Amino acid sequence: MAEEKRNEGIIFVISGPSGSGKGTVMSFLKELYPEAGLAVSATTRPMRDYEAEGREYFFKTREEFERLLAEGEILEHTVYNGNLYGTLKSEADRILGEGSDLLLEIEVDGASQIKRLFGDRAVSIMLIAPSGEEQARRLRGRGTDSEEVIAGRVARAYEEIRQAPSYDYVTVNENDRAKECAEGILGIIRAEHKRSRRMAAYIHDYFPDDDM
Ligand code: 5GP
Repeated sequence: MAEEKRNEGIIFVISGPSGSGKGTVMSFLKELYPEAGLAVSATTRPMRDYEAEGREYFFKTREEFERLLAEGEILEHTVYNGNLYGTLKSEADRILGEGSDLLLEIEVDGASQIKRLFGDRAVSIMLIAPSGEEQARRLRGRGTDSEEVIAGRVARAYEEIRQAPSYDYVTVNENDRAKECAEGILGIIRAEHKRSRRMAAYIHDYFPDDDM
């Protein structure tokens, strides 16, 4: 898209409560839109066996995380299931500094902090399952977790979905349609770049003597 040359990068905050199928949708989105930069967050939660340092997260001790916070190196943070998660300023600066769009895959508390911090430069998208029943079914389908753990996740997902009206967009991940869902998100991204306020430089070219 030629206009991206003069468009500054947009911050897309994508929240998908557990059971929304966010992981699959995000991997399609990364394939469809490789130019965007996905910020790698810091977390104090233990690394899972399929994860790698610096790829899914930067894994930190609580002391390290708290030091980063005190030094102003974390843009937003939250506690989720007893662990700290936060967006690193260095990641955001690097990606936006390249002129790329910044994708933040974070939960609702962090999303509202980013909206407060960046205003119109941030666009929030919530991803949900087609219904509460389906959300719970997907959570259950994961396998070996106890009923208590599942009930906790369902409750947290409901709390997050209650915040959906404060998001700019809500997108439904229909069963077996993750790729279409990612295409829908890409549609939002493309449209946001064409908002008139982001195209002002082009219009200004026509009227170089005006104060616009
Ligand atoms: P998980 O432990 O399953 O990787 O992530 C748990 C939740 O934390 C997910 O909803 C994920 O989007 C969210 N999360 C991951 N990184 C961040 C972050 O930097 N900030 C916030 N606020 N949430 C995050």
